[in-house]
Amino acid sequence: MNLANKILIALLLGIGIGLIINILNLGAIAWVDQYIINGVFHVVGKLFVNALKMLVVPLVLFSLIPGIIGIGDIRLLGRIGTKSFALYIATTAIAITTAIIFAVGFKVGVGSSISIEAASDFEAKEPRTFADTLISIIPPNPIQALAQGDMLAIIFFSIFFGIALLSVAKRAPELIKVIDQINATVMQMVTMVMWFAPYAVFCLLAKVIAELGPDIIGSLAKYFFVLIAALLFHMLVTQMLLLKLFTGLSPAKFLKKIRTAQIFAFSTASSGATIPITLKAVQDRLGVNKSVASFSVPFGATINMDGTAMMQGVATVFIASLYGIELGLGGYATIILTAVLASIGTAAVPSVGTVMLVMVFDQVGLPAEAIGLIIGVDRVLDMVRTSVNVTGDAVVSTIVAKSESRLDVDIYNDPDAGMLDEGDVGIHLDETGNIKPS
Ligand code: ASP
Repeated sequence: MNLANKILIALLLGIGIGLIINILNLGAIAWVDQYIINGVFHVVGKLFVNALKMLVVPLVLFSLIPGIIGIGDIRLLGRIGTKSFALYIATTAIAITTAIIFAVGFKVGVGSSISIEAASDFEAKEPRTFADTLISIIPPNPIQALAQGDMLAIIFFSIFFGIALLSVAKRAPELIKVIDQINATVMQMVTMVMWFAPYAVFCLLAKVIAELGPDIIGSLAKYFFVLIAALLFHMLVTQMLLLKLFTGLSPAKFLKKIRTAQIFAFSTASSGATIPITLKAVQDRLGVNKSVASFSVPFGATINMDGTAMMQGVATVFIASLYGIELGLGGYATIILTAVLASIGTAAVPSVGTVMLVMVFDQVGLPAEAIGLIIGVDRVLDMVRTSVNVTGDAVVSTIVAKSESRLDVDIYNDPDAGMLDEGDVGIHLDETGNIKPS
């Protein structure tokens, strides 16, 4: 069985075991809680997420520099950058509009038994302002940016370095070669980490579901299901229509090939931690050239959050209705604008979308502590919206690559291309003692 299917089965098994533990209340047994849920599940899941995060910074740095060299022309780089940015913003705006239509259409706040009194004991965190996000693009200290994983700053530094290297390419051919070889090595590290993915996905899911269970949804059922419906609609209908419209490629093939990245986004609730998997899927499975993918994937993971913006749209309509505030067309337009900006500033890690929600609430006159009313179901919604975020990054990367003739359609159409397999790490020598290419 191939690794992608194993990962899918691990996901389902994890959910199943988690539900059993939750429904039978096995978590109340001390040793189950201590050694299984907060022991094996917790440790294995965390080790794996750490391993992914460990690879993000070296991967982005050493893919983006050769990516820029591969583009070879600064004007083309400008075009790829502009197109990606415009599409990221446009798709997020479409996403949030869809979310508002769903929320208003299904009257998301009507009939809810939630009392707004419960909001007052929630302390909201200060969101990052849009100006902060802009300023953080240029790092005063690149080493610090790398150490802290500041993605926009790392992207800026890598592009700048790449452009400079491009202009001294004749004098530095060895450096280009070395960076390329480091890139190949880090990519191999991603493959090797992926071998452990089925166990990790199982543990991550089993832990979350064992702890949360189905009854957390409770009085938030309408908010929960309307948001999930809007997210699925955006991912399966809107994003796929855009893909078909702009590229003519098959959405079914796309969904099949991006599935592993979606499962990771779902299991980790972090588009940032999923970057290595998304990049691998977009390059090796969908056939997007490295010159596009090495930029558009980390850039998208950082600024493009369709799912997050959708949560903010549905949440704002829901809470406004609980507080009896009429939003009107002006209010909806404000939500769209602020949520697009908020999603750009949202860090690609779990649950930051709800911190940034403060920005949207502020604009329409809702109190920040009202976020406390929806926080109970946010973990699962975060998992779903992160999958939508990551799918959006892959859709835009594919569209941009196709429009610049940097998409290998044969790879896209080949069902086995870039398939993750169990791999072979040994070095093989031929009769004369030289290393044989595997
Ligand atoms: N978890 C999301 C992501 O990493 C961000 C959020 O909505 O909280 O994409």
